[in-house]
Amino acid sequence: MHFTYCPDCGQKTVPRQMGDDGAVPYCEGCKKPLFDMFSTCVLSVVKNPAGQLALIRQSYGQQETFVGVAGYMKPGETAEEAALREITEEIGIAAKNLRFLFSAWHEKRGQLMLCFCAETDSTVFSLSDEVSEARWFPPADACRAVRSGSIIERVVHASIS
Ligand SMILES: [Zn+2]
Repeated sequence: MHFTYCPDCGQKTVPRQMGDDGAVPYCEGCKKPLFDMFSTCVLSVVKNPAGQLALIRQSYGQQETFVGVAGYMKPGETAEEAALREITEEIGIAAKNLRFLFSAWHEKRGQLMLCFCAETDSTVFSLSDEVSEARWFPPADACRAVRSGSIIERVVHASIS
């Protein structure tokens, strides 16, 4: 989000040079810069003891390919806490050994994705209303179940390598 108006006082912002950052929207009323904002999401793949990967279909999403467990971070949370919370909320699984893989910019949504893989001892899903289906995939099948060229495809590859 690029701030044309100050979200606190409603005044129109003016561009101000801020060192290395270049021109940044500035509120002269509140005397503060308003840097562009974007959402940060966590995206995870969970591995079971057999080495299978959990992928899901979202109730509100496209149904052709599978995706990872993802969600928005909440204020006050670490990315690790958010990743574990989303896994529990969406597929009802207690995950452990969370490992950060990489971050990726989701161009279409304008979001920063923080990508993880985790492990679990349990294999039984308990789905939230947001999830229409969850399935364990052997690694090779997981690669084929996700959209080619997507961030989740990179997460799957990084999780099994
Ligand atoms: Zn202001």
